[in-house]
Amino acid sequence: MFKTECARFTYSLAKGGCMHFKCTQCKYEFCSGCGQPFRQGAKCPVGPYCERLGLHAHHPRNCLFYLRDKEPQQLQNLLKDASVSYDTEAPKGREKKTGWRTLCQVQEQKELADGLKDDVCGRTVPSGYAGLCRLHYTEYLVEKINAHKLDPVNIFDEADLRVCLRRNGKTVPVRRWESEKLYRDKLIKVSTSALLPPLPAACHSRS
Ligand SMILES: [Zn+2]
Ligand SMILES: [Zn+2]
Ligand SMILES: [Zn+2]
Ligand SMILES: [Zn+2]
Repeated sequence: MFKTECARFTYSLAKGGCMHFKCTQCKYEFCSGCGQPFRQGAKCPVGPYCERLGLHAHHPRNCLFYLRDKEPQQLQNLLKDASVSYDTEAPKGREKKTGWRTLCQVQEQKELADGLKDDVCGRTVPSGYAGLCRLHYTEYLVEKINAHKLDPVNIFDEADLRVCLRRNGKTVPVRRWESEKLYRDKLIKVSTSALLPPLPAACHSRS
């Protein structure tokens, strides 16, 4: 699954939904999907919109943060369009049947009262998801999308684009006379947010 790193430390993470990650060594808080820092509302220097947000990060649009809400089929289409292959059947050894159900075997760190504990995911595996639960299959597809630097903009709807712009401190253009299509194109044009930026090189040097 995703590898998240902070200067000296590399974590192999299966997030189980939460993308907010804190370096246990230096307390630097960042997104495990894109490495962008998490900051509290007004402490974030990006724009006035930040004040209204709680703890947040400015994710590029190909961050798992946006893509995890998409249908796996939409993510597959994105890969298909770029001729990138992906699994739909479990590689040998990944599937483990428990009675009539198939349970996801991805290792996760679970946050328990007495600290972090490694455990298997255990969520149900739908058919066609390569032996993974929906969550981990989505992560798998997004990893492929990011590895091939694909821009997911084509599977973003208007609302996604707006959220993405605001989150990146950009002004959302007002729709005037244009058709839905033209307005969408306008939103895409304004959204100059780069694709996945490199992970923070040295979180320990930040004060
Ligand atoms: Zn650190
Ligand atoms: Zn992110
Ligand atoms: Zn901000
Ligand atoms: Zn899973």
